[in-house]
Amino acid sequence: MSRLEAYEQVVGHQEIERLRQLARGLAGKRVVHVNSTRVGGGVAEILSWMVPLMKELGIDAHWEVIQGPPEFYRVTKAIHNNLQGLPVPLTDKDLELHKAVNEENAARLDLEADVVIVHDPQPVFLPVYTKSTRVGRWVWRCHVDASRPTRRVWKHLEEAINQYDAAIFHMAAFTRPLRCPMFLIPPSIDPLSDKNRPLPENERLEILEQLGVDHDRPLLVQVSRFDRFKDPVGVIQAYRLIKPYYPDIQLVLAGGPADDDPEGPEVLRQVMDHAGADRDIRVLMLPPDSHVQINALQRSATIVLQKSIREGFGLTVTEALWKGKPVIGGACGGITLQVHDYHTGFLVYSVEGAAYRIRYLLRYTDKRQRMGRLGHEFVREHFLLTRHLRDYLIMLLLVERKDVARLPSAFAA
Ligand code: UDP
Repeated sequence: MSRLEAYEQVVGHQEIERLRQLARGLAGKRVVHVNSTRVGGGVAEILSWMVPLMKELGIDAHWEVIQGPPEFYRVTKAIHNNLQGLPVPLTDKDLELHKAVNEENAARLDLEADVVIVHDPQPVFLPVYTKSTRVGRWVWRCHVDASRPTRRVWKHLEEAINQYDAAIFHMAAFTRPLRCPMFLIPPSIDPLSDKNRPLPENERLEILEQLGVDHDRPLLVQVSRFDRFKDPVGVIQAYRLIKPYYPDIQLVLAGGPADDDPEGPEVLRQVMDHAGADRDIRVLMLPPDSHVQINALQRSATIVLQKSIREGFGLTVTEALWKGKPVIGGACGGITLQVHDYHTGFLVYSVEGAAYRIRYLLRYTDKRQRMGRLGHEFVREHFLLTRHLRDYLIMLLLVERKDVARLPSAFAA
């Protein structure tokens, strides 16, 4: 079975047919994606399904990776942080290195294409150093919240971004005024990946047992890095407020090792302190490839929490909704696109608000089930990879047109 046929079982014939129809207008067009790594991170994950699916649809799609010395990645990480508003020091030499590595890569990479899609700031200077005749159109795909960058870094990046024919952001709140047209394309999840595929009941129960979670009792789950902005301590506080009313409730906070995040160990320590000796709170440190374990936890939850106080998109929310779980989410970033009060869950602004909504949902099983059904359908319609691909095809068709510059400056595909 081809990949597209496999997805047809999930999203239906019509959706796949729509993709085929849209792709007809792009048959044989050469589309090159460029990012900075082939493995690890969300962008690589997206490209590893998107490029083969584009090929299957008859597009001559390719994936190129920019390369540089270790120093380059330190600089681009600092640029990335500044783009998101975190002022990390950068010298003039650092910014020159960013450009120089782009210049070398512009000569090395095979960028001859109808459209080149450049992901994130690392390779953003490629159009500045590539002969204009080799590339039909340039598109910049920004995967982070770029609405409040530091001035210096924005000035540096703007020189490159002004060379693009279009830009793509997750959502309107993440954009900045740009000269080129902008497309709004939120991310998506893969319904057939280990993290999201249906899980046989015996496999789910076996995993719960391995993780030391009781399958008979109500369960609250938050899956996220141990990061202050994900507010794991707030989740424990909310749990504590409802524990007297639901003594058999359990809480799982699952996250990965946080060695690469200097604040991670400190946040984890705070979480452990707050958890104390409560045997109904399980703080799980899972290895990075624990996709099936996360799948099992999300599927076993009575309610999923994502009580963030700042968030990018919140793929954990999408994953939980897809599994038919109501989500109580902090009202920020992409969570507000996914959680709709009384429909797919509740948006909350405080520990007390979270506790109040947990009590409500624990009390009304029918409402939980109804929200779960709505959430699953909502994700099917808006946040699966087939919709993501459809948006890209529409963007490519529009960008390919000669009059792309006359598109409205903010354009939702
Ligand atoms: N995740 C994981 N292991 C962990 C914590 C998170 O695999 O220990 C996954 C989670 O299932 C989701 C992604 O990492 O797919 C996190 O994406 P999200 O947008 O929620 O948050 P981010 O970490 O990008 O801020």
